[in-house]
Amino acid sequence: MAEIQLRNVSKRWGSFVGVANFDLTIADEEFLVLLGPSGCGKTTTMRMIAGLEEATEGEIVIDGRVVNDLDPKDRDIAMVFQSYGLYPNMNVYENIRFPLKVRKVPEAEHETRVMKAAAMVELEPFLHRKPAELSGGQRQRVALARAIVREPNVFLMDEPLSNLDAKLRVSTRAQIKNLSHELKVTTIYVTHDQIEAMTLADRVVIMKQGVVQQVGTPVDIYDNPANTFVAGFIGSPAMNLMDGDLKDGTFTGQNVTIQGLSGPNGAVTLGFRAEDAAIADGPAEIEAKVYTMELLGDATMITVRAGGALVSVKAHKEYRAEIGDTVRLSVPAEICHLFDSQDGRRIGAA
Ligand code: ATP
Repeated sequence: MAEIQLRNVSKRWGSFVGVANFDLTIADEEFLVLLGPSGCGKTTTMRMIAGLEEATEGEIVIDGRVVNDLDPKDRDIAMVFQSYGLYPNMNVYENIRFPLKVRKVPEAEHETRVMKAAAMVELEPFLHRKPAELSGGQRQRVALARAIVREPNVFLMDEPLSNLDAKLRVSTRAQIKNLSHELKVTTIYVTHDQIEAMTLADRVVIMKQGVVQQVGTPVDIYDNPANTFVAGFIGSPAMNLMDGDLKDGTFTGQNVTIQGLSGPNGAVTLGFRAEDAAIADGPAEIEAKVYTMELLGDATMITVRAGGALVSVKAHKEYRAEIGDTVRLSVPAEICHLFDSQDGRRIGAA
């Protein structure tokens, strides 16, 4: 059982603000992902929760108890890092058992608990190997098992998959998701990979330069990004963003005219997702020359220049066009998002 509250938590080093007024309640058993580019304050937020970094301001509350002055070891939190931190001279079994020894858990319980944790991450065949005799993915699983064996109240995971190759990352991600479903432990997971965030999270927190930009379920932030930063960070490809003018519900920009929108007259940024638009046979909202065509296997991505930017549309996998061909793209008002052209904040959708 662990609910975590961050009450207006800030971290400053001199005048530099690492994290600004982070205010959020993380529910018991929730899987929360902190997402954002390098240096946005994700790790610092997590280190403050763990007690490895002191909060300059605000309160950190675990299950109703303010823990700001509590040592990391007294917070009942298990951490998994990008660097596995395994002991090279101990075998897998001993590495997994180590936290039980440190915590003086009765010896009689060790074997059952180690074997249970090892089984959860499919490490039974490797218990006698040393870390040097394991692959990166297996080492990461030892680090996970060592966190699981403690049966903590909270898991903190800092980019645990970033040292793995692409394929292993996908399978280990699935394993983490399955584990969190089984273990039902409140988990805070840091990543800069938006696909990891979307696939793992109950809720995602998107940060930029120490400031929370949006908190929501993956579907919320994908469908209703709060600003252009979030729109441009989430999705693969990210949301197309074009600059232009809105006048009486009609958006106009280079190579683009979209009617039927609602929003204030003036300069705006208009966004739409590649998969929501389509290639048109007749006159359509965008008419432009093909900048590039990419075959993705399950679709063909067509990119053109419009509204001062490169914008992409996902076409049928058999669709073909040459670079320089003129194409028409259907971008109806219903799929469009509008953002303030100055501060990027969402101002509405059709
Ligand atoms: P990454 O994905 O690169 O790990 P992050 O989002 O986890 O990035 P943090 O490690 O939380 O970022 O760092 C946030 C900001 O605080 C960065 O600009 C970093 O340079 C700064 N910072 C971190 N630790 C210190 C420190 N001890 N003293 C001064 N500034 C620091």
